[in-house]
Amino acid sequence: MVPTLLVLNAGSSSLKFQVFEQHEGKEPRRVFRGLFDGLGTAPNFMVRDGSGTRLDEGRWESGERFGHEQALLHLATWLSEHRGGYRLAAVGHRVVHGGPVFRKPVLVDDAVLRTLEQFIPLAPLHQGHNLEPIRVVSRRFPQLPQIACFDTSFHQTQPEIARLIALPREIRDKGVQRYGFHGLSYAYLASVFPNYGAPLASGKVVVAHLGNGASLCAMANGASVATTMGFSALDGLPMGTRSGSIDAGVIFYMLSEMRLDVAEVEQVLYSRSGLLGVSGVSNDMRKLRALAPTDPDARLAIDLFVYRINREIGSLVAALGGLDALVFTAGIGENDPATRREVLHAARWAGFKIDEEANMRGTGLITQEGSPQAWVIPTDEELIMARDMQRMLAGEQLAEATG
Ligand code: AMP
Repeated sequence: MVPTLLVLNAGSSSLKFQVFEQHEGKEPRRVFRGLFDGLGTAPNFMVRDGSGTRLDEGRWESGERFGHEQALLHLATWLSEHRGGYRLAAVGHRVVHGGPVFRKPVLVDDAVLRTLEQFIPLAPLHQGHNLEPIRVVSRRFPQLPQIACFDTSFHQTQPEIARLIALPREIRDKGVQRYGFHGLSYAYLASVFPNYGAPLASGKVVVAHLGNGASLCAMANGASVATTMGFSALDGLPMGTRSGSIDAGVIFYMLSEMRLDVAEVEQVLYSRSGLLGVSGVSNDMRKLRALAPTDPDARLAIDLFVYRINREIGSLVAALGGLDALVFTAGIGENDPATRREVLHAARWAGFKIDEEANMRGTGLITQEGSPQAWVIPTDEELIMARDMQRMLAGEQLAEATG
């Protein structure tokens, strides 16, 4: 029976999953990917095979009682019906915050789960949801090993000064520091850089993860040196619905002058700002691109996004002490040639000369000879998790065999 890895990414009302086969000494092979959304209201289920062909879907009309637990049970039944001869070897969970504790993926037991619960206040909108399927799996399938992979771990190589926030010690001692996120995406890219030659593998590189969430990471020799997200995933670039870096004075103003309460301010900053807030119409780059020629606010939202990316590139290049290459990834970075063109134009101070044909093709090197390199490289956060899981399971078996 082929051992199989289940990789989960849980949000407040969604559960994304991918299933990989493990083959000794080989890269994990993706066999299914899919998601549940609308959990707790009107859930949908959709699953594709490894090459993206739609295999099945489902819908539950009044799904108030259909949450993460029901989704996992449905998935377990679906897998047993559609995958004769598989044996689930482990479940991996994307967990946004590993706090100051977890530098790499960890096998979850009760003590680890309790520690991860302590980080809920550090990522209130994500951490609790990420932990929910861990509880469900330990209740329903207690024999299954569970592995947590963190968005923060990759940044643990940063120098202390890059992580420090200039606050009094009694506040910093509570764990208030810059952590950085999107670490699974950056770790995947760092792992493939050696396939793309020297500047990426051993040079000074800025990676632009531009999706609905967006951040930049400065890497030297494939290790994180600095990043735009900080204590929370609100910092840095403006995003689909998040403001990005903001003068703390604006928050006092909203609280004391506008009389918003804390929950309302949180909602403004996380859900009503960024591309959506500035355009007034959408957080979706495809829509904004379609509207931009006739809608000045859509154009302004894109312009601000590009302007802020360029400024943050400058900041990261200063932290790196130079720049050999820029890498675009995630939904916008991989699919929107116009954003790449505008960013490289704004960053022409660094000497970028775009190869427009390559940019329109949208993969690989997109700059001309003699320019600092710019690349488009698709990210794969689930594959890096599956690899980590495979490595950890092999280590475990080894320990058992020799123990
Ligand atoms: P992600 O969070 O990585 O899935 O990225 C989502 C973002 O990518 C959204 O803003 C989408 O509009 C954007 N995106 C996806 N495909 C395209 C495309 N073909 N052109 C422009 N933006 C895209």
